[in-house]
Amino acid sequence: PKAEANGTAKPEDNGDKADEDEKEDKAAQSLLNKLIRSNLVNTTNQVEVLQRDPNSPLYSVKSFEELRLKPQLLQGVYAMGFNRPSKIQENALPMMLAEPPQNLIAQSQSGTGKTAAFVLAMLSHVDPSHKWPQCLCVSPTYELALQTGKVIEQMGQFYPEVKLAYAIRGNKLFVLDEADVMIATQGHQDQSIRIQRMLPKDCQMLLFSATFEDSVWKFAQRIVPDPNVIKLKREEETLDTIKQYFVLCNSKEEKFTALCNIYGAITIAQAMIFCHTRKTAGWLAGELSREGHQVALLSGEMMVEQRAAVIDRFRDGKEKVLVTTNVCARGIDVEQVSVVINFDLPVDKDGNPDNETYLHRIGRTGRFGKRGLAVNMVDSKHSMNILNRIQEHFNKKIERLDTDDLDEIE
Ligand code: ADP
Repeated sequence: PKAEANGTAKPEDNGDKADEDEKEDKAAQSLLNKLIRSNLVNTTNQVEVLQRDPNSPLYSVKSFEELRLKPQLLQGVYAMGFNRPSKIQENALPMMLAEPPQNLIAQSQSGTGKTAAFVLAMLSHVDPSHKWPQCLCVSPTYELALQTGKVIEQMGQFYPEVKLAYAIRGNKLFVLDEADVMIATQGHQDQSIRIQRMLPKDCQMLLFSATFEDSVWKFAQRIVPDPNVIKLKREEETLDTIKQYFVLCNSKEEKFTALCNIYGAITIAQAMIFCHTRKTAGWLAGELSREGHQVALLSGEMMVEQRAAVIDRFRDGKEKVLVTTNVCARGIDVEQVSVVINFDLPVDKDGNPDNETYLHRIGRTGRFGKRGLAVNMVDSKHSMNILNRIQEHFNKKIERLDTDDLDEIE
């Protein structure tokens, strides 16, 4: 056993444990002091003040009236039996209540009025018309937190609009939101686990996540013991209701011409066009507007707010063509898009076919169900090879389209 018969840990055995005990003793001692004390400790010692700005006049007050407290608070102070500020309060209160607020470090032995001072500062600063937390007081133990809360309740007894909440044992419910985003940052993951460890075992724990890949699942199981699990599968995307074509070209200019021919031949309500680079996307968007199309451009260098605005406009039908790079394509469901053009085929960073992205671009969920049209622009042997591999992967025929003779397409 690590502990001796009398219950104290041997420091050489278990340093951490000893530290913990020490801390507990200090907190218990402090609490005891508070519980048994009903009066200020008498002190005749001089208060030493170091001002941030030594030239500013030093205010000290000899009465609570001088502080021009809210009447409800003054009433609370008097109801507690305080007649005048304690030694440390004489200097500390004017500083804490000053406008603009000033920071303060204060030291004085226990029983000299520190708690009462900061409680008065908190109650003075809080604006009950704002419905949000405004003061946070951190205490080393549960009992000390309760004790300070009691002072707040007493001093604020005539100020019931100010609400006090205890973030303590028994009151917690732990919710971890956006777990998949959370674990993308190592620091956040560790932090969550550390918090979770400090919570009591019977604390209710809830975890939410948009996706549930293995890493999220592992994390979730570490955080939430004996969970119920609810998963709503995302609707499978399928290529079943999509007509897939490819067009053979020799250059990006030829691809653009082919695109214009398609536009000339069929009525396209709205289309999304995917390019591999920002540069191509920008160029193509320019060319298309010159042809008289209403074009929206989405690319990676745009701020998230800008991207959202572009997508909103496109959804509203303000633009009929959306030219975009890979980065932006994920997660955009635009129901009315019936035509998707791969101006460049999707490849991963090693240049291999990116089947998953292909499915995301082209695929339809059962919900949208409508028939769709996908056209892939092929401009080299290399891209033909990629197209063939995509075709094999999905085992779905991608037919050749002759853009000089487009009768078949409608
Ligand atoms: P500390 O935080 O420094 O230990 P407290 O604020 O808890 O000191 O004050 C110690 C005791 O003195 C408490 O019982 C408190 O109610 C009382 N007290 C604090 N300020 C005053 C005051 N201005 N006049 C009279 N009693 C006071």
